[in-house]
Amino acid sequence: MRVLVCGGAGYIGSNMTAMLNSEGHEPVVYDNLSKGHIAAVGQTKFVEGDLDDYKSIVETLQKYDIEAVMHFAAFIEVGESVQAPLKYYRNNLSCTQNLLSAMEAVGVEKFVFSSTAAVYGIPESIGGGISEDFPTEPINPYGQTKLAVERMCYYQSRAEKLRYAALRYFNACGAGSNATIGEDHKPESHLIPLTIQAAMGKRDDIKIFGTDYDTPDGTCIRDYIHVDDLCRAHLLVLNKLDQSRELIYNLGNGKGFSVREVIETVRQVSGKDFKVVTAEHRPGDAPILTSDATKVRNELGWKPEKPELREMVSSAWKWHNEHPDGYPD
Ligand code: UDP
Repeated sequence: MRVLVCGGAGYIGSNMTAMLNSEGHEPVVYDNLSKGHIAAVGQTKFVEGDLDDYKSIVETLQKYDIEAVMHFAAFIEVGESVQAPLKYYRNNLSCTQNLLSAMEAVGVEKFVFSSTAAVYGIPESIGGGISEDFPTEPINPYGQTKLAVERMCYYQSRAEKLRYAALRYFNACGAGSNATIGEDHKPESHLIPLTIQAAMGKRDDIKIFGTDYDTPDGTCIRDYIHVDDLCRAHLLVLNKLDQSRELIYNLGNGKGFSVREVIETVRQVSGKDFKVVTAEHRPGDAPILTSDATKVRNELGWKPEKPELREMVSSAWKWHNEHPDGYPD
């Protein structure tokens, strides 16, 4: 399938692009390189463009005769979204409205959207994890913008010919395609790459944002999913959109790890010791977010092939050691 990958130079988008290539699809990357890296795109067709540029999107969809759009281009930092909400509404919501308008004008019907577990806010019952029918009550602008896009897709799919999937990611991590495509955000804000940087001696310490949460060790619990497993689910979804107007799935392993457990895993994998410091809560953080991903397993036959945290961290450790300064650009 000819797929436009918006944000295909970013972490998850570039892993997706590599997988699309290896599975015989024809991806075209559309990215403004504000956060992404051209080196991560490799030999794939690339258009440098912005999602607020309607004309450029229309031209790209037409030029490459695009059949489906995967949309990874968004700002992703919970803390920053609390400080600068309009930046998030503009980039994550307004630009996506622009993209959908361009798709409607050209007649591209299939849309796979990167949503987030942050749409659930602070779930009341976390017994077996969060399933898709849990209430969606985001507690930060980041989650609100993602939920707003989901709603926009819902209405557009009823009014027009849109077929869409909203994939609610838990914590994507690791380096994909045999540890050749890694995570390089500047500035970095995610726990695993930051802890790896501490283990590599590239930062003085790793800060734990809160040790007094109502969790067994007092630190936040998240559900980490290997980026290869995450991307594989997208391929299944892409095929399924032939028969479905709307697909909403959680993508996670269903198992939670605390911040302290992640830090300990990095310590074991790296064999390095480093300083760990307790810091204030990060605004907008929910104490526990773990998935119940039964729906995607049952409906698409998806199953994580790399569910072990150690394997996720090992692939990231390998990539960071081979790219100590990240991507060249
Ligand atoms: N975290 C932390 N120190 C850091 C970065 C993150 O304690 O330097 C915590 C953060 O508060 C959250 C968890 O690690 O509870 C995962 O955060 P991350 O930013 O990796 O992903 P998020 O869950 O926000 O998508």
